[in-house]
Amino acid sequence: MLPAVIVIVWWYQRLSAPAVARARELRSEINAQTAESIAGMAVLRATGATRAFTERYERTIWRQYEARREELRANAWLLRPALDFLNLALLAAVIAVFGLSAQGPGALGTVEIGVLYAFVSYIARVVDPLIQITNQFSQLQQSVVAAARVNVLMREAQAGPSAAQGQVRAGAVSVRGLSFAYLPGRMVLHDIDLQVAPGSFCGLVGHTGSGKSTLIALLLRFYPVRHGHLEIDGLPLDALDDTAFRQAVALVPQEPFLIAASVRENIDMGRGLSAAAIEAASRDAHAHAFIERFDKGYDTLLGEGGAGLAVGQKQLIAIARALAGQPRILLLDEATAHIDTETEIEVQKALTALRGRITVIAIAHRLSTIREADQIVVLSHGRVVERGSHAALMGIEGGTYQRLVELQGMEGGVG
Ligand code: ATP
Ligand code: MG
Repeated sequence: MLPAVIVIVWWYQRLSAPAVARARELRSEINAQTAESIAGMAVLRATGATRAFTERYERTIWRQYEARREELRANAWLLRPALDFLNLALLAAVIAVFGLSAQGPGALGTVEIGVLYAFVSYIARVVDPLIQITNQFSQLQQSVVAAARVNVLMREAQAGPSAAQGQVRAGAVSVRGLSFAYLPGRMVLHDIDLQVAPGSFCGLVGHTGSGKSTLIALLLRFYPVRHGHLEIDGLPLDALDDTAFRQAVALVPQEPFLIAASVRENIDMGRGLSAAAIEAASRDAHAHAFIERFDKGYDTLLGEGGAGLAVGQKQLIAIARALAGQPRILLLDEATAHIDTETEIEVQKALTALRGRITVIAIAHRLSTIREADQIVVLSHGRVVERGSHAALMGIEGGTYQRLVELQGMEGGVG
């Protein structure tokens, strides 16, 4: 029997493994599409894409159904039934050999009913465990497929957490010869050099896709640095203690991320800050005034993703959140993009007031935000093309920065 079982299991694996893998893949696609449709409902409706999306969703579900059916069909034919069939065949063979040959010329002799019974029950004892083994094999099969999918994720290169002990003290940032690619061979940053003195204000500008957010992501240790050096206070990022690093370096991201909780919790983010610290940070970020106007002030509950707030208000809360941790280094990615001009001037003042206390690196499309910066770095296609103060960069005839400023119509009042 054993060779037959091995063949069945081998065949089962060939039929079922691809179906199991496909069914799992499609299931995760269904989940992704469900989340996408809920999150992007407004866009789907506004662009009239609901029908097309529904059809795409149905197709995915249908394909998953087919893959599952294929998997179940392999189970139904090849596991239990195939072994049951083997069992029966064996029984038939035993009865035939012993029963029929008893009458023929070369008879083995009459078999007593007791012996026959023993044979039959022994066969059952062998077959039952075999059936159990193959059933478990099908579970093993599914787990192997699932584990392979998880493994792909686990193998991704990751930065930190490290066991290193280094601390961030002054907040000096030093970048030397830094190059980076998300995908092999597709360089996004080329040979970047950048020195930011502790407590100074550095502005990053450049066209869409020039690599500004990427540079910030590297500074946040989201990706390991492979080419070049990136140091804070003279230490490479992976020599810094993880908790201390996260406390010392704060981010206001390009897209403010708020959680479904109160305003206070959104600023605190589980750090256990005092009410006074939270309020002080909100004042610095110019968020205090509008938070006070809410019915329940700082205890007002926000919806998922900060639903119920204007985008500018979300940005101000995100700035307050970053300041509340009293970081040494503050990274702002387009933190003023959605704020009205009046509030922006206030935030700009707040950033200027941080000078000397916190190192600020701010990305801004809105150039007025970084006009007062000690140093403005202009990126283009992943390279630093210009650097200097606003006045110095305005002096470069035909320079990228000068052109950007002129396009934004803020050349008046150049210092
Ligand atoms: P913007 O001003 O529009 O925010 P940016 O200067 O911040 O632009 P980055 O987000 O740094 O630009 O992107 C730089 C380049 O890297 C782009 O060409 C982009 O396509 C690519 N890129 C960004 N993120 C990833 C990623 N996760 N995987 C692969 N490529 C990426
Ligand atoms: Mg960006």
